[in-house]
Amino acid sequence: MRERRGSAAGWPLLATVSWVVLLAAVSLPVGTTSRHVLLTVTTSAAAVAVWARVVTHRAHRAAWSCFAVGLSGYAAGYAVLFHAPSLQGLGPGRLNLSDCFSLLLFPAVLVGIALLLRERQGSRRLGALLDSGTIVPAVAALLLWWTTNAYPELAMASPLQVFLTIVYPVAVSALAVSILAGIVSTPGRVGRQWGLLIGGFTVMALAELAFTAQLAAGTFTFGTPLDAAFAAGPLGAALAAWTSARPSSDAAARPVISMAVPALSTVAALVVLADHRESLPGVATAMAVTAVLVAVARTTLFVSQEQVLAERTMEATTDELTGLLNRRALLAVLADRLGEAEPTTLALVDLDRFKEVNDSLGHVVGDNLLVQLSQRMSRLAPEGSVVARLGGDEFAMVLTGTVAQSTGLGAFLVESLEQTVQVGEHRVGVGASLGLAESPAGPDSLDPFELLRRADVALFRSKQQLLDVESWRPELDVGALERLTLVADLRAALADAGQMVVYLQPKNDARTRRVVGFEALVRWQHPTRGMVPPDEFIPAVERAGLLTRLTERVLDLALDEAATLRRDGRSVPIAVNVGAPDLLDVGFAGRVAAALERHGLPATVLRLEITETVVMTDPARVLTTLGLLRRLGIKLSLDDYGTGLSSLSYLRTLPVDELKIDRSFVARVTTDEASSLIVRSTITLAHGLGLTVVAEGVEDVETLQALADAGCDVVQGYLFSRPVAARDLVWPTAATVPTLVP
Ligand code: C2E
Ligand code: CA
Ligand code: CA
Repeated sequence: MRERRGSAAGWPLLATVSWVVLLAAVSLPVGTTSRHVLLTVTTSAAAVAVWARVVTHRAHRAAWSCFAVGLSGYAAGYAVLFHAPSLQGLGPGRLNLSDCFSLLLFPAVLVGIALLLRERQGSRRLGALLDSGTIVPAVAALLLWWTTNAYPELAMASPLQVFLTIVYPVAVSALAVSILAGIVSTPGRVGRQWGLLIGGFTVMALAELAFTAQLAAGTFTFGTPLDAAFAAGPLGAALAAWTSARPSSDAAARPVISMAVPALSTVAALVVLADHRESLPGVATAMAVTAVLVAVARTTLFVSQEQVLAERTMEATTDELTGLLNRRALLAVLADRLGEAEPTTLALVDLDRFKEVNDSLGHVVGDNLLVQLSQRMSRLAPEGSVVARLGGDEFAMVLTGTVAQSTGLGAFLVESLEQTVQVGEHRVGVGASLGLAESPAGPDSLDPFELLRRADVALFRSKQQLLDVESWRPELDVGALERLTLVADLRAALADAGQMVVYLQPKNDARTRRVVGFEALVRWQHPTRGMVPPDEFIPAVERAGLLTRLTERVLDLALDEAATLRRDGRSVPIAVNVGAPDLLDVGFAGRVAAALERHGLPATVLRLEITETVVMTDPARVLTTLGLLRRLGIKLSLDDYGTGLSSLSYLRTLPVDELKIDRSFVARVTTDEASSLIVRSTITLAHGLGLTVVAEGVEDVETLQALADAGCDVVQGYLFSRPVAARDLVWPTAATVPTLVP
């Protein structure tokens, strides 16, 4: 497979090489026969190059087949003319076999171009057709007028002779101008592919015009660089066939140019009509009149429909909010690119916590954020790539190359999307996850939907594992299905009273070892999987936007336990963990107050644990909520201290009462000098700020001793108890309380 592709891609090279040889040959004194052979070889190689593309690539097969047929005819024309004149048959002044072959080029290529343009033009097709309808007769009329002026003998010639004399310059010029007009009047950059087509046929048209002028003046001779220029059109087509079209995302219509085409055609036609003279063939007049009439029709259409058509095209292919391509356009781009000579990588980007921004700050802020991030993404998109918005907070980038070549860019993209954005008075930041999947080049390529699915699986995994970038691998497919059912189960679990349970873990006084409080830790009693720990499902809850529901459930269960403890005369506070969505929600403090009231409990029985990263999402907003909670009389703890961007000066601005030193430092306090130093200085400084210090994850007596010595107030950890169901709580007695090393 790979080899066939390699050799097939060599055909345009052969066409180019033979053209260069031909160009050299016509400037050097070599025999006429060799030059004829070279012209035949060049045009044949160009035809074969296009056929090779038709055979190896699915995309635009019909269009390139037309080109291949036209180019083959053109090459066959030369073969007959130079190498088998006996086949010509019909004699001078009559239509002969070589012309029949050569003339095939124009209708076939015109259809091929129309097919290629069709996709670019979308709903603007009628206008484009009318454009060709004005250009072709106008150019024909102009050329007829010019040749009759330059070539007075033609007036005496037979209609067939006139036709054969002018058909080549007229047809090639019309072809070149049609491509040019078609391409500039449709949205998007011109691109290399169209550039090659325009360039090739323009050079060929100029050569035909020069040929006709020389013929008229009687100065034409074979063996000038002009001969090589006759192959420029086929050569341009061969190269274009092997160049991928790069649709650009700035799909703006160009009304000025749409108007210019009929205007210029009309001017050309009027020049012909104004200079009406006896010798001008009637057909030239007819052409000129046709051009003017079609131009009028074109302008009328433009005025009445252009706006509507342009808008409809935009709607169909661009995302209204960001102006990026939409999902449908992305699929079209993929359909076009897959199967090209280079591998294609699709990157899917999904923003984390965007829903929170939208829910808490409103849609205006959310939309603004999306626009700013989409601009950021477009700026980072490498040359030749395409950026699209698939809806919501999901974006895609189509990149040329393999996944391995794209991971670096992917990581950079995620990093830059995570930089905060200023929206009005808010400074908002969201996270981003990225999934990559690749389609191989050529005939082994994937179909667009499969590529999209794979990138989606990779994205899901990258979110799940909290990775920045993940690439698709076959193993991921199985897991993705499993996790999807997890999310479905989760929704059911949150609606079902029995599945979410809270375990309690005591917090003990570091010196007296008395229980001074509990932390409520959620567990999911899954009907088939058994007890699922929070680390395994809370990320999924967050992603599904269900965290506030979970918090509400946990709060309710924790307050139930608090009420029971209170009835038993053991009134100690219970701590509940809350996340960013809770604190970004203006209604949260009110809901907490209502829950307390429902359970008939004072605010002092509740404590809320927050992390620094939560505060960082939108400090102003979070601080407002924290202020409200505090005013209700609820105490706040800063959880996992030491794992974030902790700075004690920053701590002063947070209305917290308690600091929980993260387990990662506590666990090493007796073995690692640095951890010990951090723990001791944190305790001193926190006390200086009037905060209580809790050490998390205390598993042995030595650690407890070290912490007590350092002045730590409260300890929590397996040494005292694992988190357990309330009914399994063992209240420490003198016998069960761990004793300190004397
Ligand atoms: P966290 O808030 O830091 O909770 C402490 C975690 O450390 C708990 O894990 C607890 O079982 C564990 N732990 C306690 N003592 C020890 C010890 O001595 N050694 C070791 N190795 N571990 C100890 P758990 O219950 O698996 O919870 C993990 C995390 O899940 C919690 O970390 C918290 O961030 C989150 N989480 C738990 N419940 C909730 C909840 O209701 N809401 C929210 N938003 N998050 C929760
Ligand atoms: Ca906690
Ligand atoms: Ca913690």
